[in-house]
Amino acid sequence: MSKFKIIQYRNNCIGCNSCTEHAPGNWEIDATDGKANLKRADGKDDVFIAEISELELADNKRAAQDCPVGIIHILDSKGKDISFE
Ligand code: SF4
Repeated sequence: MSKFKIIQYRNNCIGCNSCTEHAPGNWEIDATDGKANLKRADGKDDVFIAEISELELADNKRAAQDCPVGIIHILDSKGKDISFE
């Protein structure tokens, strides 16, 4: 089981493309609405969650830190938000 999770509050995405540049393996822009899709995520009510490996952590922390609307969060296995650590 993966140790880390990404959470995206997709409703407020402005489609800036930053996350897809930092971590193209985890993010892609949706051709329909121009917002970022979190790959391999489960979603409900525009909150999307995906498990990631430690290898994917650094790139996605940068994605979280650079998201201009602050809608990407990275959690450790205990649920602590480590986006800015
Ligand atoms: S960095 Fe944030 S606002 Fe920009 S596309 Fe990704 S999720 Fe959307």
